[in-house]
Amino acid sequence: MKIICIGRNYAEHAKELGNDIPEEPVIFMKPKSALLQAHTPFYYPEFTNELHYEGELVLRVSKNGKYIQERHAGNYYNGITVGIDFTARDIQDECKKKGLPWEKAKAFDNSAAVGKFIDITPEIKKNNINFSLLKNKEVVQKANSSEMIFSFDSIISHISNYFSLNIGDLIFTGTPAGVGEVVVGDELELFFEDKSLLSLEIK
Ligand code: MG
Repeated sequence: MKIICIGRNYAEHAKELGNDIPEEPVIFMKPKSALLQAHTPFYYPEFTNELHYEGELVLRVSKNGKYIQERHAGNYYNGITVGIDFTARDIQDECKKKGLPWEKAKAFDNSAAVGKFIDITPEIKKNNINFSLLKNKEVVQKANSSEMIFSFDSIISHISNYFSLNIGDLIFTGTPAGVGEVVVGDELELFFEDKSLLSLEIK
């Protein structure tokens, strides 16, 4: 499996980091070793001094495909949850300045924390999902999937022009405004509507 991530998919977040609003989805990847298994502690990596959380909606791919048309894209994922795209912001800033790839800042071990998946049923209105991230019980990110610049279906279609999608792949769909730093001892909890699907402590 692979983990495909979308960057700058919420206008307010693009602005808060001083980035332009993209004309097409910004794509990067994390390897399988980046997946933080449920109920596993997250250890603060030694190589960064500025670790950020990015709370995101995450899709689970359920069918192999490439060159998927947007109108068929809904057939290619069947699960959704919340996740954290952990980012070493100091390293990412350096990479961006030098025009280098982001992997060291984004794709390190355990940098992709994923909550418990929910099956996508007709009751789930994909373009109207509320989700939030709480840091030490205080809401720091709160958004709705309707605020995404690129919808789930358009993301799936776009990605599949470059990378085959395979059953079990995960897609991080971008973070809204409110990203920020975590330190050892912080507790993060993510909600999908009113369901708590992921919680972890920074150790
Ligand atoms: Mg992100």
